[in-house]
Formats: sequence, C-alpha cells, structure tokens
Amino acid sequence: MSAHNDSLPDYKGRFAPSPTGPLHLGSLYTALASFLQARSKQGQWFIRIDDLDTPRNIKGADSDILKTLETFGLCWDGEVFYQSQQLETYQAFIEQLTQEEKVYPCTCSRKTLAAFHSESNIYPQFCRDKTAIPAKPYALRLKTVSVNIGFEDFLQGRICHNIAEKDGDFIIKRKEGIIAYQFAVVIDDHLQQITEVVRGFDLLDCTPPQLYLHQLLNLKPPTYLHVPIITHQNGQKLSKQNLAQAVDCQNPAKTLFYLLTLLKQQPPLDLQQVSIDELLNWAIQNWQPLALKNTHALAAIE
Ligand SMILES: [Zn+2]
Repeated sequence: MSAHNDSLPDYKGRFAPSPTGPLHLGSLYTALASFLQARSKQGQWFIRIDDLDTPRNIKGADSDILKTLETFGLCWDGEVFYQSQQLETYQAFIEQLTQEEKVYPCTCSRKTLAAFHSESNIYPQFCRDKTAIPAKPYALRLKTVSVNIGFEDFLQGRICHNIAEKDGDFIIKRKEGIIAYQFAVVIDDHLQQITEVVRGFDLLDCTPPQLYLHQLLNLKPPTYLHVPIITHQNGQKLSKQNLAQAVDCQNPAKTLFYLLTLLKQQPPLDLQQVSIDELLNWAIQNWQPLALKNTHALAAIE
C-alpha cells in the first residue's frame, strides 16, 4: 500500500473540530499539520464541524473556531460541512446494515454493563440475539466478527488489531438517538471523498474499527497519518477536558512559529519577523512530516 505518492493529483484532507468550546493550542496544532500536509500536495483542505453530540455543543463555538482558523491563515476549501446536516445519510447507511442483519438493538443500562466490564471495555453481547425492536430506548450495536484489521500509518507504521477482541460489538447509534463518532466519521470521509486523514495519535486505535466499517459498507478508505499529540509538561494531553486555554489570537505569527517548532519543522529564526502568510508559505514548501516519525507525544512549553 503506497498511496503516499507525491504526485497524488486529488488529495483531499480535512480538519474536524467539535463545537464544544474555543480552539485550543492542541487542536490548532492538528489543524496546522493537516493543512500543511494537504497544501504541500497541492490538495484541498476541508472543515467538518463535528456537532453530533448535541448536549456538548456550545452555541457560537463553530463560528468562533472558524474565525480562529482564519486568524491563523488556515483557509479551507468549499463550504463548511456540518455533521448535523447529514442525519438522513447516516440513517440510510444504518438501514443498510440493519437489512443485512449486521446490527442489533441493545437496551443494556450503563449500570448493568458496569457490573460486567472488568479490564476490557468489551460489550458482553447480552442483546446480540434480540430480534424484536424493544419498546424502550435502545442503542444499535454492530455484530462484529473476529478479524484482524490493519493499516500502514504514514508516521506510526503498521497498526493492526482484532476487532472482536479490542472493540467488541461497538455502538453505532446511541440510546439518545445520537450517531456515534466511529460511525459518522466513516460516512463523512466517504461523503467528502477524503483521501487522507491527518489527526492525533490518541485516535490511532479508532482506526481499525473505522476501517472495519469501511469494509462492511463497501467504501474506499482513506490513508492515515497520526501526528503525536501535544501534552502539558506533566504528560497530560492538552484538551478541553483538562482546561487547555483558548488559542491566543493576539500574536498569531508567534504562535504559528512555535507550532512549527513543535512539529519539528525547524523554521529559520528570521521567520520570527514575517507575516503569517509568509510563514505558512515557508511551511508548505518545507513540510517534512517524517520529522515526527514514530513519535507519540510532544511536551508543550508552558
Ligand atoms: Zn444490551
């Protein structure tokens, strides 16, 4: 598999933030990496707003994120794609899997499952043989089989795991009716014709079940490049959950220079004095993702 051909004519990449708060340094870093990868291949770069988890959405966060990306010169192609506008499409794919008897309804409560989950988070398949549609709210689970699914990550090498052992019968639609991330992302990448996914190392293990879904739905999968995550000095991932601060938009060129340093791109010191456009042009011309090969995490300077 060597889809990482430099002459790839129609490269399409994407960045998919959740509108659950302002963009923090960790997400801007991932956005920058996927932007540089796309632009260095003369490809297109799309924005997808990951807004399916409605209770967590914050009103106005989407436009706030887009404004921040613009401030940093990360201009995207085409219309912004909103997951919340694709519900009918997700449902059509769910119906396909239902007809093929590849999913089943699960009514297990969190409490019931908590009693059975020990070290692994694998669902004990209590509802697997259910055929009737339950009267109470239910989640939809995928009837997974024991199969090894692997792929070649551009930075992390060969990744492979057994779907039944590692993921089990995972949920594709939650009890509240919300489409699960794992499912939506596969459909979205298909709809946007994404050729390569650039995202954080923390999502590496999500890739085999996503590729499994690609197989079940007969969709052509993208290739993958998982960049190291950035962490606080204590090793904790920068995330909204551990209160990473919103990106400081006061001096975008300074922040960009810093992010390029974190991405091990070694920007020359005289680029500290230039505009964001000049800095981004340099970064596109000189983008060397392999500087991050086999790296899982990078500590940010605080
Ligand atoms: Zn169940």
